Amino acid sequence: MTAEKETATKPLDFIRQIIAEDLASGKHQTIVTRFPPEPNGFLHIGHAKSICLNFGVAVENNATCHLRFDDTNPGKESTEYVESIQRDVRWLGFDWGSHLYYASDYFDQLHDFAVDLINKGKAYVCHLSGGEIREHRGTLTEPGKESPYRNRSIEENLAIFAQMKNGEIEEGACVLRAKIDMASPNIILRDPVLYRIMNTSHHRTGDQWCIYPMYDFTHCLSDMLEKITHSLCTLEFENNRALYDWVLDTLATPNHPRQIEFARLNINYTVTSKRKLLQLVTEGHVSGWDDPRMLTISGLRRRGYTPASIRSFCATIGIGKRESWIDMGVLENAIRDDLNQNAPRVFGVLDPLKVVLTNYPENLTEEMVAQNHPQIPELGERTVPFSREIYIEASDFMEDAPKKFFRLSVGREVRLRYAYLITCQEMIKDDQGKVVELRCTYDPESKGGTAPDGRKVKGTIHWVSAPHALRTEVRLYDRLFTAEYPDMDKDRSFKEFLNPTSLTILQDCMLEPGLLNTTNEDRFQFERQGYFCLDTVESAPGRPVFNRIVTLRDSWAKLNEPV
Ligand code: ATP
Ligand code: MG
Repeated sequence: MTAEKETATKPLDFIRQIIAEDLASGKHQTIVTRFPPEPNGFLHIGHAKSICLNFGVAVENNATCHLRFDDTNPGKESTEYVESIQRDVRWLGFDWGSHLYYASDYFDQLHDFAVDLINKGKAYVCHLSGGEIREHRGTLTEPGKESPYRNRSIEENLAIFAQMKNGEIEEGACVLRAKIDMASPNIILRDPVLYRIMNTSHHRTGDQWCIYPMYDFTHCLSDMLEKITHSLCTLEFENNRALYDWVLDTLATPNHPRQIEFARLNINYTVTSKRKLLQLVTEGHVSGWDDPRMLTISGLRRRGYTPASIRSFCATIGIGKRESWIDMGVLENAIRDDLNQNAPRVFGVLDPLKVVLTNYPENLTEEMVAQNHPQIPELGERTVPFSREIYIEASDFMEDAPKKFFRLSVGREVRLRYAYLITCQEMIKDDQGKVVELRCTYDPESKGGTAPDGRKVKGTIHWVSAPHALRTEVRLYDRLFTAEYPDMDKDRSFKEFLNPTSLTILQDCMLEPGLLNTTNEDRFQFERQGYFCLDTVESAPGRPVFNRIVTLRDSWAKLNEPV
C-alpha cells in the first residue's frame, strides 16, 4: 500500500490542523516541509516519526518535502551517513524528488547573512572562552553579564570576522555572537554563538571553510532559503523558536517559516539517541548499525519489519504536544498485524526431536497439501513432504504430562497438522536420561488429520520430514535492554542494562525444504513460532539464516500453548 492511501483518512492532529487552516485562509497556496537530519549517524525509529510527519503531510497536501542534511558539524559527519539516511528514507516509502539539499550548500549565503547582522549592529566577535561565556550566561533566576567585547565597533567586528574566515585566528580564540539580550528570561537569547572556528575538513566542502555556523543560525535561514512553510521539530527546540524568529526578523528576510514543535518519540526498553546508538556500535555491544536488535531503520529492516508496519506504527502513536513513552509492544503489534495479514504460513522446527513412525512404509514420501494462510484462501496451498522419520518440537513431548497437556506423551495421540494422527508408543533416552527419539504409530486412515471414526484429538502440532528438512540456523531476539528506561538512571550508564540474552542462535533448526529458496523480501509465519525472514547479512547461498521478526500471538498459537 502506498503512503498516500494510508494517511488520507486519518483525523487531523494539531499540526495538520494548522496546515489545513493556513491553506484554507490563503496564508499559503501550497506548503513545503523538510526533514533535516544531521549526517552523524544512522536514522532510528524516532526519526521515522519525523519522516512520516514531514513527508506524510506533503503527500496528503500534494506538496513537497525536502530532504536536507544539516551538516554543520564536520567532525562527526560523513558520506556513509548521508547515504544510509537517503536509503532509509526511500525504504520507508518517501520521495524528496529533486529536493535534496545540504546546509553546507548555503555556507556562502550564511556567511553573508552573518555579515549583514554585524552591519546592523546585531552581532559581534567575542573573545571570551567557552567557559567564560557559560559563566556570563547567568541562570534561570539571574540575568547574564554582558561580554566586554559586546560594544566594539561594526568595523572592528567586520575586520575580525574576516580574519576568522580567512584562517588568521586560531581555533577557540573567538566566536561570533548575536547581540540580543543578556537579561532575557529565555537563556537561549543571551547572545548565542552563531559561528565558531573549526580547523576541520568537511565531507563536502573540504578545507574551504574554517568557520562553521551553529545550528540555530543555520536552520532558520536554510528553511527560509528553501521557502519552507512549516518547520516541524521536536519539543526540545521550543525555546530555540525565539532565536529562530529573531534571526529571520532581524534580517528582515522575504519569507518566514513557522516553527512548530511536537513531542519526540520515546520507546521503552531501548535508547533513541544517535550518540548512544553510536556507542553500542563502536564498542561492539551490537554487530553494527543494522544489528536486528537496534531500533535503527536499518536494524528494523534487517530484522524484517516492513516499511508499511513502521508507517502504521507512526500513524498509531500520532502527533502530540506532550512528552510520552510508547510501549515497545505497540511497535511489535504493528509488524504482527501486518504479517498476520500477509505472511504465508510454513513449518519450522526450532528445537527438533526425532519421531519414527514405526508402521509407516520405509521408502515412502507423500506430498501433504498445506494451506499457506488459514484465513486467506487466496494465498493458496503448497505441498510438504512427509515420510517415516519426522522432527517435532521437543517441547511438544512431555514424559510426565499433566492431564491437560494435549500434545505427545507415551500413550497419547496428537494431530500432525495437514498429515496424520499419531500415537506415541515409546520414548528413547540417551545415557543422561534425555529423551532423544520417539517411536510412534500413525493412523493410515487419518490422512489430512481427521480421525475416520470421528474420535476427538485435541492437540495439533507442526512437523518437518527428517530426510527432506532444511537444516539451518535461526536467530531469536529479545529486547536489547532489561530496564524499561535504560538511559534515565543518573548514576548508571545505559550500557549496564544491556540484556545478556538478547540474541539466541539456534544452530540445528529443521525447516520445510521450500524455505531454501527464500528471497530477501519474503516473510513467513513459522506456525506456532512467530514471524521470520532471511537475515541478509548472515545468510550465504544454499545456507539461509533466519531471523525471528516477532513472536506470535494468534488463536492457533493459543490453542496449543503450554499448560
Ligand atoms: P538524536 O537525538 O538521536 O541524536 P537528533 O535530533 O540529534 O537525534 P537529527 O538528525 O538532528 O537528530 O534529527 C533530524 C530530525 O529528526 C529532527 O527534526 C529531529 O527533531 C527529529 N527527531 C530526532 N529524534 C526524534 C524522535 N525521537 N522523535 C521524533 N523526531 C525525532
Ligand atoms: Mg539534532
